Amino acid sequence: MNDVATAPVRFGKIALIGIGLIGSSLARVVRRDGLAEHIAVCARSHGTLDTARALGIADSTTTDPRQVVDGADLVMLCTPLGAYGAIAEAMAPALKPGCIVSDVGSVKQCVIQDVAPHLPEGVALVPGHPVAGTEHSGPEAGFAELFDGRFCILTPPSGTAPEAVDRIAALWRQAGMQVEIMAAQHHDRVLAITSHLPHLIAYTIVGTATDLEEHLKLEVVKFSAGGFRDFTRIAASDPVMWRDIFLNNRDAVLEMLGRFSEDLTALQRAIRWGEAEPLEDRFTRTREIRRGVLAAKQA
Ligand code: NAP
Repeated sequence: MNDVATAPVRFGKIALIGIGLIGSSLARVVRRDGLAEHIAVCARSHGTLDTARALGIADSTTTDPRQVVDGADLVMLCTPLGAYGAIAEAMAPALKPGCIVSDVGSVKQCVIQDVAPHLPEGVALVPGHPVAGTEHSGPEAGFAELFDGRFCILTPPSGTAPEAVDRIAALWRQAGMQVEIMAAQHHDRVLAITSHLPHLIAYTIVGTATDLEEHLKLEVVKFSAGGFRDFTRIAASDPVMWRDIFLNNRDAVLEMLGRFSEDLTALQRAIRWGEAEPLEDRFTRTREIRRGVLAAKQA
């Protein structure tokens, strides 16, 4: 009875622009579940495209964004954010009416700013962010189960065709995700604290350790299991992708960084003056957050 509601979403041609960790993981889901008749892939380098073909996740490949979107029902941008504007401009003339343009980028307001102005009438924009990842990059790093049990946030601008939003939501549900819809600005503030600031801290602490005198540096690696190791994993994430995230979510990151700096200064002061209580209070409260993350099955 419920066949229509539960049938997997299907597309004729899907164009994936960018086939790294996220693009190739999605391509694997599309392949596994037969969600498209044709997967067309675009990247900058022939090496990446050859790998995608060898992995069996591309039916056709090109370095030309205009060519890859020709006849596509869904175009998914899976490159670093800084490439979006030029790609949108290049592909726009070849987008067919009724096509949905979506993406997987980690910041959302900039997608609406950089992509929407180029899209012709009759093409829907449904920005999205699958909140799942690893520190690895490239087509070989992907795996279909990456999205299982995680959240995908969609931030359609007002006036977006609801059917287009429904189809993108169905695609990510098929990948195993729970879908939430929110305003792009809200997304960018939430992710600034949950993802972007933690990465900035990791990049900073690993950088600080790297600048230590040689003998201390050796000890840092040797005794890294004391906490440092977890920061090195986060700080191993792709430098170009993270450069673009910070440049495109500047306001929200600076706001959260300001709050963080104030809190850090308060802890610094408590340590300096030997104030046990504020330290213990803070550490007790933060322990609760970890329990919440575990309860939400996001650990
Ligand atoms: P990635 O593994 O580094 O792959 C990036 C892909 O984009 C590569 O195939 C690259 O091709 C291609 N590319 C770069 N510039 C291009 C251009 N101008 N034209 C066409 N293709 C281009 O990156 P990723 O980790 O999958 O991240 C992709 C997006 O997902 C980013 O916007 C990121 O914010 C978002 N995201 C990432 C994560 C994560 O944990 N990694 C999680 C959620 C969302 P070449 O190899 O030929 O350069």
